[in-house]
Amino acid sequence: MTARAYPPTQLLIDGQWCDAADGRSLAVVNPASGAEIGRVAHAGIADLDRALAAANKGFALWRNTPAIERAKLMRGAAVLLRERAGAIATMMSQEQGKPIGEAQTETLSAADIIEWFADESRRIYGRIVPPRNMAVQQMVLKEPVGPVAAFTPWNFPINQVVRKVCAALCSGCSIIVKAPEETPASPAALMKAFADAGVPAGAIGLVYGNPTEISAYLIAHPVIRKITFTGSTPVGKRLAALAGQHMKRATMELGGHAPVIVSEDADIAQAVKAAGAAKFRNAGQVCIAPTRFLVHNGIRADFERALVAQTQKLKVGEGLAEGTTMGPLANPRRLAAMQQITDDAVKRGAKLALGGERIGASGNYFAPTVLTDVPLDAMVFNQEPFGPLAAIRGFDTLDEAIRESNRLPFGLAGYAYTQSLATAHALSQRLEVGMLWVNQPALALPEMPFGGVKDSGYGSEGGPEALEAYLVTKSVSILMG
Ligand code: NAD
Repeated sequence: MTARAYPPTQLLIDGQWCDAADGRSLAVVNPASGAEIGRVAHAGIADLDRALAAANKGFALWRNTPAIERAKLMRGAAVLLRERAGAIATMMSQEQGKPIGEAQTETLSAADIIEWFADESRRIYGRIVPPRNMAVQQMVLKEPVGPVAAFTPWNFPINQVVRKVCAALCSGCSIIVKAPEETPASPAALMKAFADAGVPAGAIGLVYGNPTEISAYLIAHPVIRKITFTGSTPVGKRLAALAGQHMKRATMELGGHAPVIVSEDADIAQAVKAAGAAKFRNAGQVCIAPTRFLVHNGIRADFERALVAQTQKLKVGEGLAEGTTMGPLANPRRLAAMQQITDDAVKRGAKLALGGERIGASGNYFAPTVLTDVPLDAMVFNQEPFGPLAAIRGFDTLDEAIRESNRLPFGLAGYAYTQSLATAHALSQRLEVGMLWVNQPALALPEMPFGGVKDSGYGSEGGPEALEAYLVTKSVSILMG
């Protein structure tokens, strides 16, 4: 493959890569230029029916495949992914916009995730429960829930898919992924690694098309036993309601609005380095991105100066260009949203310390932006910004910072910088978040739970907790003799 090759993306149904039955396809656009770079197949109902039949058949086969064999096949996919990481990252950078280094890291960390889940598949244990009658054997069995439907977004085209596919496969479930139409080629390459490693036909499927139509059809379909979704809170609530209506298990990874509490005793350089870098990774289009910077008033001026200085060093450009550290936004919707959110904050009294506007006339480039003195009623302090925008306000007491952190309905990630063990402990007890990182950037490691509380969703996509949602419990009691 040449450095810029971008192949057409097909559906994966019953082990075969194919176009849609009716030949429909959608354009894929490079966010750095606005130019069409390829096409992705658009599944219709006939394609979904075939994918469902295959998932049903695949489940019967896969659930009866020994865990050690499942683990071996999954590990094979990790090896292929590592071998292909360079070409895959190039596709991802073209379709999503992120710098090639970030795309490469995402692809390689997917291999690490696969290996962790592969190992975990060998540790899905049930229980033997002491009986009241010694002629009775009481067992608690863990079984795969059944075929899964997964819906994933465009911000991490591979990472959002791999956690779902791994949790399903290691538990013995089959899975149909509806991956993002805007960034289709890299998730297809991930699925190809599993298929090429020998994961059987039907155990994995991949479709693209109209998200609303596909989710409505798959969630209601009797073959599907569980759904998993990553995306915005409004869409998540709609899909969770549909799942409830059809009595389907659901895992929901939804929006966040992460507070970053920088205490008076924080190491400012450490806080700026870690949180500042995390803020602008993937141009801020990250559900766990730091978004509400709450900085103690005693150190606020120093923190702001240092954050602006660090942010000014970012090199904004095309993801594949040498030296780029921040790419374009993934789609024009985010560009319009960034302008609206920035203008709203300034209108309400925030100070624009850096950026605040689009760069150039083509491509979805928005300048890395720092807003200070942001009032609480500004849009940016209430809606998930999902872009390269750091919003800062001060606080005087820890109670005040915690109150503000917990004010919103979101509860995904939180960050804190402090030298005090007592402060770190208080925050770990009192912040309403699913994940808290103290004095360090977010590390979404596969062995740790990943998920939110409140409107940020439910369920986990990491740690042994990730498997729970894919397993059902069967209580068996046998009277012997
Ligand atoms: P959106 O709400 O329209 O879509 C978010 C994702 O959900 C997309 O991948 C989309 O294809 C999918 N989707 C939408 N409707 C669906 C449906 N009925 N069934 C199945 N999937 C559906 O928003 P958007 O403009 O693509 O993204 C903007 C917002 O989405 C952001 O502000 C952010 O809050 C959220 N988002 C969150 C994540 C995350 O990692 N949690 C990722 C991407 C987007």
